[in-house]
Amino acid sequence: MKILVVNAGSSSLKYQLFDMDENKVIAKGLCEKIGIGGAVTHKRPGKDDYKSEIELKDHDDAIALVLKLLTDSNLGVIKSVDEIDAVGHRVAHGGKLQESMIVTDSVLRYLESIVGINPLHGPPAIKGINACRKAMPGKPMVTVFDTSFHSTMPEKSYIYALPYEYYEKYQVRRYGFHGTSHRYVAHKAAEFVRVPLEQLLIITCHCGNGSSITAVDHGKVINTAMGLTPQEGLPMGTRCGSIDPTIVTYLMKQENLTPDQMDDVLNKKSGLLGLSGVSSDMRDVWAAADAGNERAKLALDVLVQDAKKIIGSYIAEMNGVDIVLFTAGIGENDRAFRAAVCRDMDYLGISIDEDFNMSCPRGENVDISAPDAKVRTLVIPTDEELMIALDTLNLVK
Ligand code: AMP
Repeated sequence: MKILVVNAGSSSLKYQLFDMDENKVIAKGLCEKIGIGGAVTHKRPGKDDYKSEIELKDHDDAIALVLKLLTDSNLGVIKSVDEIDAVGHRVAHGGKLQESMIVTDSVLRYLESIVGINPLHGPPAIKGINACRKAMPGKPMVTVFDTSFHSTMPEKSYIYALPYEYYEKYQVRRYGFHGTSHRYVAHKAAEFVRVPLEQLLIITCHCGNGSSITAVDHGKVINTAMGLTPQEGLPMGTRCGSIDPTIVTYLMKQENLTPDQMDDVLNKKSGLLGLSGVSSDMRDVWAAADAGNERAKLALDVLVQDAKKIIGSYIAEMNGVDIVLFTAGIGENDRAFRAAVCRDMDYLGISIDEDFNMSCPRGENVDISAPDAKVRTLVIPTDEELMIALDTLNLVK
């Protein structure tokens, strides 16, 4: 069975074609600059990448190009679109939809109705689904929501202490994001330590350009750092994470900012970029800090401290922890970040083998705990696309 996984952003569209008999990617790529030019990178394992600049007016053009490349006699991996059995779509926000599901008109209508709480990621995801439905009529489509895994949170974790009517009127509550990744790595960690997920207390740290930390208590999420939007929690590449909410109205008044301009400050000009003044990319921030840039050092210190604070709070909430794991771009690759977060956490049972942490292989599940540590600290590479493909397979089988 072959499943196409699509992750549509506002001007980009990522795709992966899976051969599910082997859980293996047979082609993948990225369409960029949709609506503002157009470019594509198409990759097949063991073959040279294909790159081209080509006009992509909209998501329909992007999907048409993807299908053309996948079936091309030179660059393709399948003979016809008919060989694709189903399409899985990454959708950041599912609102009240708590599980992956087959796309129907009513699912689409619901997703359209909640773009107000998901203005950045909702519209492009819907465009991606519509483009695929148009290009592959009748093909089963599945939506996999970043919010689903967090739907087990108790009310005391998802409610904000605002007037209750805003929850009732506008569904203002914590939803959490990166759920597909948190779900994947929590299951992988349980497999790795050979203990059923239902018997474990796990803290999953998904740290990348966007970052969130989740408490998984006996297989169920009981709390997560991101909130109504992916803005809450840790400082990120360009997002500020949790701040005193009154800062928003204060700055709007001081700087005469519109709501959109303020959103821009919070989403695109803050976080590592805003603090360091150097970059949103962790590698650049480390390089600047190593060269003596004090603001870059400060940005790293803030990120590390906030990660510690959230991990500590989840240990308190779960009354313990068996596994703390790191995943995503920073979690999987940034050894110094992992060391800094885990340093001076031995009171809580967390301590790592710092030498092994600095030398352990990348791209594999590894245990970096110190031999006598009460808590196991793991690095588990995430694979959201595989999880989406597996959900799609389960629903269309
Ligand atoms: P993601 O959003 O998961 O792709 O993660 C992107 C983030 O991971 C960026 O901040 C990168 O700088 C960071 N990253 C990727 N590789 C490394 C590395 N080798 N060392 C430090 N940070 C890295």
